[in-house]
Amino acid sequence: SLRCGIVGLPNVGKSTLFNAITAKQAEAANYPFCTIEPNIGTVLVPDERMQELASIVKTPTIIPATLEIVDIAGLVRGASKGEGLGNQFLSHIREVDAIVHVVRCFDDGDVIHVHGKVDPADDISTIETELMLADLESMEKRMDKLRKNARKEKELLPLVELAEKVIKGLSDGIPARALMETDEEKALGSQFFLLSAKPILYAANVSENDLPDGNAYTAEVQRIAEEAGSKMLIISAQTEAEIAELPEEERPEFLESLGLPMSGLDRIIQSAYDLLGLHTYFTAGVKEVRAWTIRKGAAAPEAAAAIHTDFEKGFIRAEVIAYNDMITYGSEQKAKEAGKMRSEGKEYIVKDGDVIVFRFNV
Ligand code: GDP
Repeated sequence: SLRCGIVGLPNVGKSTLFNAITAKQAEAANYPFCTIEPNIGTVLVPDERMQELASIVKTPTIIPATLEIVDIAGLVRGASKGEGLGNQFLSHIREVDAIVHVVRCFDDGDVIHVHGKVDPADDISTIETELMLADLESMEKRMDKLRKNARKEKELLPLVELAEKVIKGLSDGIPARALMETDEEKALGSQFFLLSAKPILYAANVSENDLPDGNAYTAEVQRIAEEAGSKMLIISAQTEAEIAELPEEERPEFLESLGLPMSGLDRIIQSAYDLLGLHTYFTAGVKEVRAWTIRKGAAAPEAAAAIHTDFEKGFIRAEVIAYNDMITYGSEQKAKEAGKMRSEGKEYIVKDGDVIVFRFNV
């Protein structure tokens, strides 16, 4: 499953948010494939369409997609030089698909800010700088060997060129995600495992009375996120903690009273999907309705591999009914009679919400 890491300076509200997430995790604990570890919370990716499909195919079992949220505590100024939890912290970031950076956007005299004042721009650049310094160090370590190998293997030259460009950019304070522009560069650069190449979602943490629109601090975060092509969300970690304590049936009313369409956690999950360029297709039968996460733009065989690699290898074709057609016609049989079941080949680009049966050779 996908992994998001929560980072942020001390005292910004990370633990509060993470505790709210682990409280929700209890609901996911019925799913046997969810790992339970102290600093990892597994959450279900909300998708109302699954309920609808389950009633159409008459199954009691719904298996949603999951997302792992890792609490990566310990980032302070100087982490790349071993301050705080230093390198341990950075190695945890290496393992995540996306970073959720919690930024303090609330004033509270009782909660000390590590740098003395609430300053989102400074907090953001502190963390980004640590990631870039760590990347610079690992690139410089790599460089000698890479140059040496490239003297023998000419096909390594583009990699050397990219490495030089990345080192130069990082030294100028530009994160790797802004340096690898073309698909080719991204593909090549992925073997550098750079921290500053990971997509970032800023979670601007405000007090409840600044929901849903935020304040001057969140406006600053928004400006920075826009400039960097990143995403931001306004959340209240304390409110999330309150929501997590409510019985499930009381949550919608509580959210509505705050002017929120869904919980901050659900918005984080949705934005992470967006940020990572992911979407969902379904399998639906009497046994279960299940969501499968794939890259937007993935063709049918790649989508099949989400279920099993054998499905990709032996791919013959995909029988596809669009979600809306399933709902409109009310059953697979009726959708089929109306000519809405398509037989698609290897080139078919799977769409969000497709309900698919794969045909394959074993
Ligand atoms: P962490 O060090 O980033 O994990 O921060 P914590 O989650 O431990 O929060 C630090 C302190 O800030 C705690 O006392 C929280 O109760 C408080 N806190 C978190 N979010 C908010 C908020 O939105 N408003 C206010 N006033 N306090 C908050």
